[in-house]
Amino acid sequence: MTKEQLRQFFVDQGGQAFRGNQVHEWLWQRSAHSFGEMTNVSKEGRRLLEEHFVINHIRVDQMQRSSDGTIKNAVRLHDGLVVDSVLIPTETRTTACVSSQVGCSLDCRFCATARMKRMRNLNPDEIYDQVVAIDNESRLYFDRPLSNIVFMGMGEPLMNYNNVLKAIDMITSPEGLGMSPKRITVSTSGVPKMIRKMADEQVKFKLAVSLHSAIDEVRTSIMPFNATFPLKDLREALQHWYQMTKNRITYEYVVWEGINDNLEAVEALVKFCRFAPSKVNLIEYNPIEEGEFRQASTQAVAMYQQTLERNGITVTVRRSRGKDIDAACGQLANKI
Ligand code: SF4
Repeated sequence: MTKEQLRQFFVDQGGQAFRGNQVHEWLWQRSAHSFGEMTNVSKEGRRLLEEHFVINHIRVDQMQRSSDGTIKNAVRLHDGLVVDSVLIPTETRTTACVSSQVGCSLDCRFCATARMKRMRNLNPDEIYDQVVAIDNESRLYFDRPLSNIVFMGMGEPLMNYNNVLKAIDMITSPEGLGMSPKRITVSTSGVPKMIRKMADEQVKFKLAVSLHSAIDEVRTSIMPFNATFPLKDLREALQHWYQMTKNRITYEYVVWEGINDNLEAVEALVKFCRFAPSKVNLIEYNPIEEGEFRQASTQAVAMYQQTLERNGITVTVRRSRGKDIDAACGQLANKI
């Protein structure tokens, strides 16, 4: 409920509106899991809350720590379903990788989450609470607050756009975590209509696109929904995004053996990147059980890096984190 709705509730019950502010603060800033914790709310107020509402809070059921410091949380939702979220520490920052859906309706062939069917969208508070849980872990284990958030966990965030947006509003609000939207990246597999909508709404967070191939045939073979949203539509939507926001576009890209580890694929990527300032993250691939995809050779990755750099495109090679606990990109499939 919004703060206004909470204030109205107390007024309707013959109480005072400011009680709504207190409850709102307990829920969003202090992450209260029960009404009993809300000690500055009168006994009667707490009784009314108990009578009318439940707090559907999340619970970290299992926490696994990787040898590289990465932490994976199995997050149990109020209805028993489970999603994963991951804390990724580096020397200078702590990044939370959060889920936006239980399972995924898309069917990327290299992704463990795709093997679970989409069960439901996460609510804004469930997304927000994953961030709070990781912020707490960051303070506890690394002695610093969370610095960045990426929507790269389970699910396609643009298929749950309204709830993701509401969660980001609270994450960036001074009444929530007060984080800068510039520290938040929403990563999409590329839903053109939603990218246009985000551009029109002039959102302040960053956008990343999981591209993996700039050749329709190849992309459709690894990300079958590309048949519905072909690269031409994606490029036009991204052009619109750039015109409206003037923000550089980041592409996430994995090089697989026998799929896109050739010169034709690199050249297509260079061409695709031409219309706007771009950055390419070359991500190391993490095998999933019974998966047929294999990380390409170091030479193939070096060929990508050199060709992109030669064409003035910023490129970084991302080493994978949390592989030993199945917390790395493409591996999330709640195994508990
Ligand atoms: S890569 Fe992302 S969009 Fe594709 S199936 Fe996995 S979770 Fe869904």
